[in-house]
Amino acid sequence: MRETTVEPERSGVSVAEARELMLSAVPVLGRETVGLAEATRRVLAEEIRSEISIPPEDNSAMDGYALRASDAARPPSLLRVVEDLPAGKRSQRKLGPGEAARIMTGAAVPDGADAVVMVEDTAVEGEQVRVMSAPALGQHIRRAGSDVRPGMQVAESGAVLHAPLIGMLAALGRTQVAVRARPRVAVLATGDELVEPDRLRDDGRIASSNSYTLAAALREIGAEPVYFGIAPDEPDEVDRRFREALRCDAVISSGGVSVGDRDWIKQVLTGLGGRMRLWRIRMKPGAPLAFVMVGDRPVFGLPGNPVSTLVTFEQFVRPCLLHMMGHARVYRPVESAVLDEPYTKAAGRANFVRVTLERRADGLHARPTGEQSSNILLSMVRADGLAFFAEDSTGAAAGERVPVQLIYSDDLRAEPGF
Ligand code: AMP
Ligand code: MG
Repeated sequence: MRETTVEPERSGVSVAEARELMLSAVPVLGRETVGLAEATRRVLAEEIRSEISIPPEDNSAMDGYALRASDAARPPSLLRVVEDLPAGKRSQRKLGPGEAARIMTGAAVPDGADAVVMVEDTAVEGEQVRVMSAPALGQHIRRAGSDVRPGMQVAESGAVLHAPLIGMLAALGRTQVAVRARPRVAVLATGDELVEPDRLRDDGRIASSNSYTLAAALREIGAEPVYFGIAPDEPDEVDRRFREALRCDAVISSGGVSVGDRDWIKQVLTGLGGRMRLWRIRMKPGAPLAFVMVGDRPVFGLPGNPVSTLVTFEQFVRPCLLHMMGHARVYRPVESAVLDEPYTKAAGRANFVRVTLERRADGLHARPTGEQSSNILLSMVRADGLAFFAEDSTGAAAGERVPVQLIYSDDLRAEPGF
């Protein structure tokens, strides 16, 4: 019998497989109703159809005079001004032959009028107005329903509520709207070496920066971080915190998922009835990542090194949470960039290299932000993007093009790009 050995660099799943596995496992959250003021960037969870016409009546697109076009066909024409119509006032009479109504932008055009002449083409003469141009029929009249007609679909369920759509809902007379719920996401740090930033002393311990980066990254997508503090590397304590954290819609932990003898996360989660869906991903930084479903709640056990935490959040957790919030586009855009410095790597694991980006006449240029170890948070602080090197790649020479994920772009895509 031959023994099968797994080459360590080749163990685990690929980035694409991990992404697919996690996205297909997480549920889309339910609906809730919110006021328009709270709806910004939420995902619409109902179809919007108009029941009304916008504008409700024919109205004037100009400050000027409403009249019958046939009365002003041979300029100059002198018409009797019978009425003054500011915006918001509806005429009570029908405009007769030889008559004009002074009208402001947005005011309903009176019955009988079929054109508006702008004030610049007129001159007041006592109770009359001299019209200097011949208007075309319907000129400067905005027709009832020219924006929206009754029965028209204004937005599909799944649309993102940006400013124009929120304005449109208000225009339709709505004050509330059904949206996808936003996840409450538990953030849990693990590690005996960690303290809260305000407890940082010269005793060899380090601040739990991951708690803050994760909370910030969650807020950026509109998810609600719920902080569960720092768990020491004790199985009972890790277990207790996870039990509490699992009341949230999702849990993100950092640290404790490696193969160290104090890395309890995987064991605790399987003890809680979780199904371990994946563990190792063939990527750098961030190889050990435990993805566990406990019932319908995803738990993302991210590696503890600050860069690994951020890169795995960006690649996997963020798309999953956006999906849970009903977004159809969950991926950052990926663009091709010229690499300005050579980068070498071993074949086996995909690499995410932190780069600064600069747009030049010949396109986008990328330059690594220096030391790329997974503990160098500054490499991430200074980065505009993540250059992606596939598993089999051994790097790229200066001047070669590489795909770069734009980690601050909100121009999200339906497809991942690598
Ligand atoms: P671990 O995955 O627990 O072995 O942690 C890997 C590295 O990440 C260690 O050097 C930890 O000190 C560091 N680390 C773990 N958790 C955090 C955290 N919350 N904030 C900053 N660094 C962390
Ligand atoms: Mg640890």
